[in-house]
Amino acid sequence: MGISQKDNTPLRGVILNLRTKLQRYRRAYYVLDAPLVPDSEYDRLWRELEALEQQHPELITPDSPTQEVGDKASAQFTPVAHQSPMLSLSNAFSAEDVAEFEQRLQTRLKTEQPLDFCVEPKLDGLAISLVYRQGRFQRAVTRGDGKTGEDVSANIAAIASIPKQLTGAVPADLEVRGEIFIAHVDFKALNQQQAKLGKKAFANPRNAAAGSLRQLDPEITASRGLSLYCYAIAEHTPLAVSSHYQALQQLKAWGLPISDEIQQVTGAGACLQYYEAMLAKREQLPFDIDGVVYKVDDLAQQQQLGNISRAPRWAVAHKLPAQEQLTQIENISVQVGRTGALTPVARLKPVNVAGVVVSNVTLHNQDEIKRKDIRIGDTVSVRRAGDVIPEIVQVIVDERPENTQPYVLPKNCPVCGAEAVRIEGEAVSRCGGGQTCPAQRQRYLQHFVSRKAMDVDGLGKKIVVQLVERELVTTAADLYRLQAEDWLSLDLIKEKSCANLMQALEQSKETTLPRFIYALGIPEVGETTANLLSLEFIELERLRAASLEDLSAIHGIGEVVAGHIVQFFQNPANQAAIEALLAQGIHWQTPEVPEPSEESDLNGKTVVLTGSFSEIKRNEAKTALQALGAKVSSSVSKNTDIVFAGEKAGSKLDKAQSLGVEVRDEVALLTLVR
Ligand code: NAD
Repeated sequence: MGISQKDNTPLRGVILNLRTKLQRYRRAYYVLDAPLVPDSEYDRLWRELEALEQQHPELITPDSPTQEVGDKASAQFTPVAHQSPMLSLSNAFSAEDVAEFEQRLQTRLKTEQPLDFCVEPKLDGLAISLVYRQGRFQRAVTRGDGKTGEDVSANIAAIASIPKQLTGAVPADLEVRGEIFIAHVDFKALNQQQAKLGKKAFANPRNAAAGSLRQLDPEITASRGLSLYCYAIAEHTPLAVSSHYQALQQLKAWGLPISDEIQQVTGAGACLQYYEAMLAKREQLPFDIDGVVYKVDDLAQQQQLGNISRAPRWAVAHKLPAQEQLTQIENISVQVGRTGALTPVARLKPVNVAGVVVSNVTLHNQDEIKRKDIRIGDTVSVRRAGDVIPEIVQVIVDERPENTQPYVLPKNCPVCGAEAVRIEGEAVSRCGGGQTCPAQRQRYLQHFVSRKAMDVDGLGKKIVVQLVERELVTTAADLYRLQAEDWLSLDLIKEKSCANLMQALEQSKETTLPRFIYALGIPEVGETTANLLSLEFIELERLRAASLEDLSAIHGIGEVVAGHIVQFFQNPANQAAIEALLAQGIHWQTPEVPEPSEESDLNGKTVVLTGSFSEIKRNEAKTALQALGAKVSSSVSKNTDIVFAGEKAGSKLDKAQSLGVEVRDEVALLTLVR
């Protein structure tokens, strides 16, 4: 860095700069629950500061972020001093760091034997201390700055899934430590709710958990689907066990939740194996983890090792690749979907987010761009977690280059030039070109032949693109009119694939009404709505004649969707396209639908399917339950009447049990629907 050892002034400036920046970020993160940068950026600056301080220990001050835990408790809550401090954790980022960690401990413990560790997932939420007196919940306090936290007892008391009364031989005074977090499903539901209320979305589950717990109104906290896993007993609580793992099992026996992923292992090598296993599992976990924690298992050894100022010596957090990273928006382009929806897509400087290179991210629509004020040239944080598609969390406004302009979607379709229209009440703008727009035509044909629609085997995107480019088809019905020589004129088709394709098209003519409705590509009509419409109207002609009122009266069809359906069938081009398809011989059997029986105990009930079923496909079960008069919902709430749980049911089942919702198994489901 070229700074002389003797004159520390410039270095002081660099350090001061880093500290000021980090302190600003810490406040936003810990106190306001609204981070300004992703953790990966914070961690990068923190490590930079730590390295400088290690080279120049004389410049370390007690208020440096490297010496502190969290931030001061917010004045909104009553401060409570912790009986024993709530510390942070030291970090490891590589296999070498983990090996060195064990070596350091072995040196201190004067042993060469591999050490026993308790290994645990590092949940990404916020730390909580829970005090139980005579087994009864007494008080809950956040970590705060490690010495003093915030009294959030009323909020914790309102969370149904946190036990208020422990059972068994619980010590008279028990303080446990754990993590409050929010599972992916609850995070998604919460952000949908925020959007409905016109409120700002939470950046990530950690901030959602922290923001939801630190509410002044416990009822709000209670409604947010927060969860708890305990991972320690406070140092001052007397224990009758000799290992950390046993202590956690003890907590479980008293009724406190602990993670199923906790294990006992021996040696740094086994710790690394656990890390790899958790890394592989991460995407399937129903909640975010940002690392794994290795803790010396023997409590006597833990005591011998003690703490440094901000973390125990006997534990380390091995960080997983960050799920949020910074990158830059190089450009924004606009894609045209099958119903003409214009979707802005950010072209990013490629960035590795938790093991996957992300270079494109959908920006959804103009409102989303406006809400986040996303501009070309911006530095943004990109998040990829679980099975959720990558998204831009926020713009780092500090890094915005000069002379950027707010981004406005083009007024015309970028492919056919037709004027773009935005229907009132809708978030998207659509190309007004209809099937004359080559982009719409191509996407529509892809949709028409797809598996859940007409299911034409072997007719992939590349072939469809050529059919449209060479103007061999303009409508879906044209597909059925193509002759062998037409197919063979395409680059990718040989004799055999030509015969297979023509046969697949012929076979696709025998279909079902829901498939046909879905294949029509009516805006906002997905598979579920197509099923619903088919069950409701039984015949295509009745659906074609349905009025806005008829459609809006159907449970599960909103006004916007009803409007799209009416408009679609009124459009003369669509009427002609349907007639042309029917004229090609597309047909189906009129479905026989059982009348919802008066006695059906499902009539009018809200049910949820979760886990996997061995004897029935989920879609089939859903349709059958709807036919019995049930409303099938995707998330569990206090309004749910029954949850049908199959194998490996996870968080939805837990939630049902915690809310006291009736749970039935697959056998019960089959009895009802078959
Ligand atoms: P930390 O989150 O890295 O580790 C300590 C915490 O881990 C504990 O307090 C506890 O809450 C939690 N934890 C989860 N599972 C655990 C388990 N099984 N056993 C023990 N503890 C467990 O440290 P920290 O001090 O809370 O925060 C530092 C981190 O917070 C940084 O590395 C950064 O990623 C993030 N941060 C981000 C910003 C930002 O602006 N984005 C600002 C400040 C901090």
